[in-house]
Parts: sequence; structure tokens; C-alpha cells
Amino acid sequence: MSPAPHLRYNGTTAGDVPPILPRIPSKQSAMTATPIRRQYLRIKRQHPDALVFFRLGDFYETFDDDARVVAQELEIVLTSRPMGGSERVPLAGVPYHSLETHLARLVSRGYKVAICEQVGDPTGRGPMEREVVRVVTPGTVLEPTMLEGKANNYLAALAPDGDRAGLARIDISTSDFATTQLSLQDALMELERLRPAEVLVAAAGTNEALPLQRLGATITPVSPDWCDPEAAHRALLEHFGVATLEGYGCEHLPLATAAAGAVLRYLQETQKGALRSVVGLATYSCADYMALDAPTRRNLELFQAGRAGTAQGSLLSVLDQTRTPMGGRLLRGWVSQPLVQLAPLEARLDGVEALVRATVARRQVAALLGRVGDLERLVNRVRANLAGPRELLALRRSLEVVPELQAEVAALSTTEGPHPPVDLPAGAVAVCRELAALVERAIEDDPPASLSDGGVIRPGFATELDAVRRAAQDARDYLAGLERGERERTGIKSLKVGYNRVFGYYIEVSNAYRRQVPADYQRKQTLVDAERYFTPELKEYETVILNAQERGGEMEGLIYRQVCGQIAEAAEAVMAVAAALAQIDVLAALAEVAVRNGYVRPALNEGDALRIVGGRHPVVELALEPGAFVPNDVSLSGGEEQILVLTGPNMSGKSTYLRQVALIVLMAQIGSFVPADHATIGLVDRIFTRVGAQDDLATGQSTFMVEMVETANILHHATPRSLIILDEIGRGTSTYDGMAIARAVVEYLHNHPRLGAKTLFATHYHELTELAQLLPRVKNYHFAVAEEEGRAIFLRRLVPGGADKSYGIHVAQLAGLPRPVIGRAQEILAQLGTLAPATGHTRLVRRRSSQAEALRQALRVRSPH
Ligand code: ATP
Repeated sequence: MSPAPHLRYNGTTAGDVPPILPRIPSKQSAMTATPIRRQYLRIKRQHPDALVFFRLGDFYETFDDDARVVAQELEIVLTSRPMGGSERVPLAGVPYHSLETHLARLVSRGYKVAICEQVGDPTGRGPMEREVVRVVTPGTVLEPTMLEGKANNYLAALAPDGDRAGLARIDISTSDFATTQLSLQDALMELERLRPAEVLVAAAGTNEALPLQRLGATITPVSPDWCDPEAAHRALLEHFGVATLEGYGCEHLPLATAAAGAVLRYLQETQKGALRSVVGLATYSCADYMALDAPTRRNLELFQAGRAGTAQGSLLSVLDQTRTPMGGRLLRGWVSQPLVQLAPLEARLDGVEALVRATVARRQVAALLGRVGDLERLVNRVRANLAGPRELLALRRSLEVVPELQAEVAALSTTEGPHPPVDLPAGAVAVCRELAALVERAIEDDPPASLSDGGVIRPGFATELDAVRRAAQDARDYLAGLERGERERTGIKSLKVGYNRVFGYYIEVSNAYRRQVPADYQRKQTLVDAERYFTPELKEYETVILNAQERGGEMEGLIYRQVCGQIAEAAEAVMAVAAALAQIDVLAALAEVAVRNGYVRPALNEGDALRIVGGRHPVVELALEPGAFVPNDVSLSGGEEQILVLTGPNMSGKSTYLRQVALIVLMAQIGSFVPADHATIGLVDRIFTRVGAQDDLATGQSTFMVEMVETANILHHATPRSLIILDEIGRGTSTYDGMAIARAVVEYLHNHPRLGAKTLFATHYHELTELAQLLPRVKNYHFAVAEEEGRAIFLRRLVPGGADKSYGIHVAQLAGLPRPVIGRAQEILAQLGTLAPATGHTRLVRRRSSQAEALRQALRVRSPH
């Protein structure tokens, strides 16, 4: 059976039509359908594109087509149930306590799930009231098991208009809501950076052409009305209860407002509870950050490394010594958005330096942070009425640490030297202390997972609840004593007083003693070898206990909601503390990494020179034995050494060096210390990289095409303040074409008045070293190699001048190419080597053609004909 296609919306593109209305069963006449069936059909009609999880007692049931899909996707039994008339309705259900697991599976497969709960009190007549409390989609998940702790889960909205766009994003689990207005091209780049789980786009018009598939997100088409700037403006004003969006920074940015409005509208439709977490909106400009395109993020292995794209081996894996999920998310944000302004960077570096110096305080702060959970997400679960008793306990444990952390952070700012730019406001800390005390007073230390299990509220917190519980306990004690009394009265030693959920309390007498049963016992249930009875007295106490339990349960629920309400009221203070803790966590992590790996504080300035002494690659150096990494320098500036042409054998360390320079600059511009002896860095506005060969078959681009597209992008967008890393250009085509393109690119970078960007260019075309003689700001460097008994020893040291040999065959040998192939290659190379090296660029083509001739000659030697 294939799933109902109309319900599946993952992988749709903006061009796809919105989900088609599913077949809503309507055959059953209103006369014959049961009241519950009618209620279900009414709700289903309001949520045609979602799987409706309809709460019936301890289960979430699905019906009709939804049941078929759910049964198949969750591999559970599809049954049926009579729901009026002669018709049986397909049914598949899951127990309420396993909702999260099943949600995770369905949402990850691209379904929307509408959770329909029983609300209000059971009335005497008709079915219990039910309503959809939230529709869970990939971008609106709040379940901890479905969220990555150290990454945001974004819902984004794109509001394009011609070549401009508004782009808003929210993580409803952390309240991170922000919007921006920019060129459409930049908006697409920003979306790639954000990696949203779900993107809202207006269904009609130009959006069809947008390349959104590559985001790997769920694309949810929304009504174009939602992206109307005026309507969005009104919706935002109303939600925030303000007269202008001035305070949020987007009053005069219609597209940014439109995108934020679309997000809000979507949440209003799908997330009643979570709307309480939408408390603020920030407007930002991408111009405040260093732009990093997707190839650059990939090439520099910022978040994922190697062919498998694992986190291990990435820059983030080295830097991320954060102790809290909030810190982890913030650091990820910093790495993906380096800054381009001096002041905020210096502030971050001051913070890192303070923590580098204060060894004891740093360790203490880290240890305390290790006891803090995900405050942001816990608080938002409370605000959305989703937090269970154990989450409140986790919240309390986290909040209890806050005053101690405040003391540590405050002590840091009294020491000499730079201070961390973080302050834990006393008022907010006091609120945390009070909330921790509240939860401690209200909630048991080891509460059950679910509120409905009872025993969540601590005795002594609510007098009325205590009284009800006491009544139940007295009755229970009485019943415990009853067993003893009845044994004595009847002389039946094996008489038992017991309880089961269906029959309630009973007195059980085995068949052997049936005759001794007193006359006042009334039969309740017959078992194989025993009878169960009740007495009016037993019934009376049973009623007391059951009433007390029910009343106790209701009271616990009420008190629990009141406690959650108080936490929700004070949520903003906790969120402010969480934000400050995230900052201190990141600074402490960067300090820890700096100390552990011997990094230095970079000297930043607004000039255009880049000077690094003893630079190292932050990831490669950790993969080698301590001390094995050979440090190298770099000196680049737009005015003198603008372009370094790097030659050198294969495996000599060119790629490592290029990346290391880019990574050192990037690290400095997130506010981190850097792996070098000394670094002076003129802030760069962008880092561009063009590295390696990669097909992009999905978009129909060959290796060489990708290479050229990336190169074109660099030449169009680089500025004199950019840093460009080119690791081979023109390798994907014939030697002549490739070399010609490579050379033209270097000339363009050197000569174009708009460019002048600092460039590192690694190449195997040794002919390009001639450019240093022709273009004043081009310099040659190569990686030194020593030869010992015919074998190359890679020294990994960068030295001035061009290389004269590639040692390609040597590397091929190391890689295990068959001996005959190596031998033959050496022969051919020897033939080519008889040609005298040419000098001067004018001889380039001539030399190449004579090389080609030599190659033909060499090949002829072995021709079988
Ligand atoms: P190719 O031209 O074949 O791409 P390459 O010159 O770019 O090679 P890299 O890939 O940078 O060489 O380096 C090869 C290996 O050498 C790296 O995987 C690393 O283990 C080691 N290496 C690189 N640089 C250094 C260094 N500075 N110190 C120590 N080892 C290094």
C-alpha cells in the first residue's frame, strides 16, 4: 500500500501546488455517525493536509486514510471500529505516552501531524470537547528527542519581490526570531547558512524558479496573502501589542516585515501554545557579517569534514568545548557568521583573554555550566504547556546553578586586564533563584515522567491537596487493617483484601473456605479457585479512595499548571540569563581551546595587511603527533604581496596551508584566539575558496563547470578587502585550456581596479611562476622538498621562489600504483625532461608544443606498431 500522496509534503518545491485536499469521508450520514465520529470529521475538515491524532482516552487514534498512512509508516496494526450505522471505520492508534517517538518518525518523513486533545471537563451528555492544540511540522518541533541539542531548528519564510527578498527565521524552541531584507541572491545564500528544517514560500508566481531543493528542507507553500507587507505589518503589531515596528527595526523594511508576518501567521495556524514563545523580533543585516558561501563553508570544513561529511574533523569540532546546548548553538552561529567590525570582535577577544588568564575561574565556570541544561528549550516547553514533571526538575537544577555562576562571572570582572563582555543581571538572577525555590517547594525530587501518574506535587506545598491525599491514605490504611479484622472475624486465614482497575476493591476468599463466608459479603467476581466479594463498608471506603484519587489528580494538574504559569510569567528573565550563559560558555570554550592548543590573541585592525608568523592548521595539527606539524608564515597585502602563487610537489602541504590561512582569519573574526605564534589581521569582508573537484550532478553541472561557476562567482563578488583561496584552477580541462584560464584569472585579480583582493593560489602549472616577473604584486612560494637516495622527503616548509618538480610519480608510487606503470611513467617523464626549461612567458606556448611533441615521441617508443 502506498501512502496517501496528498498528505506527504516533504521534498515539494515552491513550484509544487499546495497539498490537495484529501478525501474526507462523508458517505456516512450525519444521522448514523456517532457523536464522536461527527466531532472527528469536523476537526479533520479543518486540517485536511495533516494527519489528525485524535485523543481518545489513553490513545491517539487516526481514522480513514490517515489510519492507513499511519499504520504503514509506523508499522502498526490497521484495524477498524464501528462508528455508527453499519459502517466500520479504518483505525490505527498509538498510546499517548509514546507520542513523541511516533511524531519523530512521521515528521522526519515529511508529514504534518495535528494533535487533537481532549479539553475541558467531561460533560454529562455528548462527547468530551476536543481541539487541535498544535500541528507539528519539521520547522515547529518542540520535542527534545527530535531536536539536535547544539543546533537550531529553524522555520524560515522567504518573501521575494523581483530581485529583492525578505527572509525571516524562527526557532520556536529557543525564541530566536529574526528577519532581514536583502537581494534575492543573498537571501538564498543566507538560507543555505541557516539550514532551516522548513521554509515557507508564497505558492504562486516567481518562486517556482527558486533553487530551494538544494536546501534539503521541507518547503511549505503558503498563501501569497501571508506575504503581503501591510497585512504582515498589522499581524505583527497586533501580536506584539505595539503601535510601530520601529523598536524591532523593520518598520521601514516591507519585505523583512512580510517574511516575519508569514512566520507569525503560520504559527498562529499551527501552534497555539508556542505563540507565547514569540516574544521579540530582531532585524539584522547580512552586511554586518562576513559572507561565506556554501562552497567556502564546505571547503574550509567548518561544520562537516571529509567525504562522509562528519562533524569530527571540522573546525567546529575543535572549537566546541561548550558545556551547554545554548553555548553550542551560539558558537555554531558565531562560526557561520564571522564579524567584520572591530569593536565587537575586540570585546569578544577581551572575554576570551580574561578567561585564558583566569585558569581557576575558567575551570570553575566550565564545571558550573556543565550542570546547566537547555534553559531556553526547557522554558519554552513550559510556555507551550508541554513540559513534564522531570523537565521542571531539570529546570530547577539548572536555575540553582545561576547564582553561583553570577558570582564567578562577577569575580572575573574585578580582576586586572580585559573583562568578559557578559553580565548576569542581578534582577534576572534573583528571579532564577525564586523559580528554583518554587519548583523545589512544589515538585518532588524524583517525580514520575507523566503528570497523570500522580505523586508529582510535593507534600506540604498545597494544604488542600494534602487533605485529600490524607483522606485517601486514611482509607487505604483502614483497608489494610480490614484484612486483619476480617480474617479474625471469619477465621479464614487466606482471606485477602485487594484491588484491580476494573472491579475496584474486593475481599477474596478461596473456594476451600466458601462456607465460612459471612452473610454480609456480596459476590462481585468469580475466579477459578476463588470468589471475590464486597461489603457495604468496603464500597464506602472504595468510594472515598477513588474520589480522593480523582480529586487529587485534578488538584495536582491544577497546581502543576499554576506552577508552570508562574514560570512562564518569569520566562523573559530566565531567557536573558540563558543568553548571557551562552555567551560566557562560548568565551570559556574558546579560552579553553586556546590554552590547550597554544593559540594567541590576534591583533586586528582595519588595514589590509595579513601577517601570520608560525601559523598552523587547527584541525590537521591535532591529527598529528604533538610537535609534528610544521608551522608556516604568510604575508599578504593589497599593495605589495597581493597574490602568492604556491607551487610544490603533491602531498607537500599546499592545500593544508591555504586552508590554514583562511581558517586563522575566520577564527580571528569570530573572536577566537588563533593557532599561530603571532597574527596581525586586517579585517576581511569575505573569504572565497575554490578548492578541489566536485561534480554537482543534481543540478546538471560537471566537475569543470562547477569549478568555473565558483571561479566566476569569486571574480564577480570579491572586493579589495576579500581573501581568496584558489586551490587549483583549470585542472578539470585540457592542460592548455586550463593553464590559459588560470593565468587569465591571476592577471584579472591583479589588474582589475575593483579587485586587489589578497589571494593565495596553489597550482601545479609551474609555468605560472613566470607571472611574478611580469606582475609586481605576484610573488612565488613553494614547499621545500629534500631528496634522499632518490626519495622525496616533504619538509612542509614554505620558502620563496617557484618549485621545479612535481614528484607526482613519487606520490603515485606511495599510493601503490603497479610497478610497471610507475616504471613506464618515469621513462616518459625522463624523455620530457630532456627539454631545456624555458624562461619568459612568451615561450610558454612554444615550450608547451615542444613538450607535446616530446610526449608523442616518448609514447612512440613503446607503440606496439
Ligand atoms: P596535492 O597537491 O596532492 O593536493 P598538497 O600539497 O595540497 O597535495 P596537502 O594535502 O596539504 O598537500 O598535505 C598532505 C598531507 O601532509 C596532509 O594530509 C598532512 O597530513 C600533511 N601536512 C600538510 N601540511 C603539513 C605541515 N605543515 N606539517 C606537517 N604535516 C603537514
